[in-house]
Amino acid sequence: MNMEFATRMSTLGTETAFEVLARARRLEAQGRHVVHLEIGEPDFDTPAHIREAAVRALHDGYTHYTPAAGIMEARQAVAEYVARTRGIRVDAGNVVIVPGSKNVLLFAMLSLVNPGDEVIYPDPGYPIYESLARFIGATLRPIRLREENDFRFDLDEFRSLLNPRTRMVVLNSPHNPCGSMLERADIEAIAAAVLPTRAHVFSDEIYSRIVYEGEPYSIASVPGMQDRTIILDGLSKTYAMTGWRIGFGVMRAELVEKMAQLMINSSSCAAAFSQIATIAALSGPQDSVDAMVAEFRARREVIVGELNRIEGVRCRMPRGAFYAFPNVSAIDADAKRLATHLLDEAGLACLSGTAFGEAGRGYLRFSYANSQDNIREGIRRMREALPKYRPAVRA
Ligand code: PLP
Repeated sequence: MNMEFATRMSTLGTETAFEVLARARRLEAQGRHVVHLEIGEPDFDTPAHIREAAVRALHDGYTHYTPAAGIMEARQAVAEYVARTRGIRVDAGNVVIVPGSKNVLLFAMLSLVNPGDEVIYPDPGYPIYESLARFIGATLRPIRLREENDFRFDLDEFRSLLNPRTRMVVLNSPHNPCGSMLERADIEAIAAAVLPTRAHVFSDEIYSRIVYEGEPYSIASVPGMQDRTIILDGLSKTYAMTGWRIGFGVMRAELVEKMAQLMINSSSCAAAFSQIATIAALSGPQDSVDAMVAEFRARREVIVGELNRIEGVRCRMPRGAFYAFPNVSAIDADAKRLATHLLDEAGLACLSGTAFGEAGRGYLRFSYANSQDNIREGIRRMREALPKYRPAVRA
């Protein structure tokens, strides 16, 4: 008997990074060597004091269920951290801790967006925004980020997309995949446009500590906006803790209750010892974060410099996160085939810009969460593979 899936499954998208990673691993299993510039995962070890806190927690019996929204001390640590870094007032009652920050987005959409409501999100953008919005039946309103505008929102276009049906506006600064940041003035203008409407802002701030130029600024800091904002953040990127599965959301207390109910209906809680490690991460020494960001900064110079030496490639200097998003439209107007060619022929794993939306056509995304030597080797492979490449569509 054929298995029949529920129709909603056909609306769900994916994160191509995981698919390309799996493909690259298959090639490696066949004996091929692959340089991994596809996955957005810091290659550093989780700092020792955080690992030790988790081991202590295991010995202390943090091996059971916790309250659905998180252990109170961990929620308190998140509240203090977010209050300190964003300059706002946050109580533990405004915090929910989840097994991976994507859950904050899923739960926010399930709690606030009805089928047919409109969701505005960046294109190119983290693919899970569009995937989940489509899954819950929202009307999709992508806002195009253009290279000539430093991959920031075009404010006039944004205002023209806002209307009484807009229920959620997704921001992501620093931005995956473009490495761009919204200026404080952009964020203030977005807030001014949103305030008279019934829209909530979903502010994905997962890269807010990985910044090279300028200061991160949360829309929740704009007077009047905190009540309208759901902040997404987590430990994955800042502390090299992708496998610990700790994300958190900061929002109004009544929305926390809905998210706790969704937790009870899904994961029950985030892992108890990972929650205790959260306290060590957020309240302990931060020098390992500074060291990691300094290394990312050096890698950024290497990858952007190397990419710009290739004929037909044009890459802006990212201001935050750890992604380079070069324009390769002079080589291939699509770039999807190019990304496949680079993996199959050159052993270089990267992503096509189209993995992040239609507006990513003609771009590639490289994650520079890899060593400088591997980055140099990856881009060398690209340079060598390009003369043999024949695009289906030439620009
Ligand atoms: N938001 C953005 C923009 C991301 O790039 C990612 C991970 O790649 C996440 C959220 C989710 O991170 P996690 O589920 O590890 O907390």
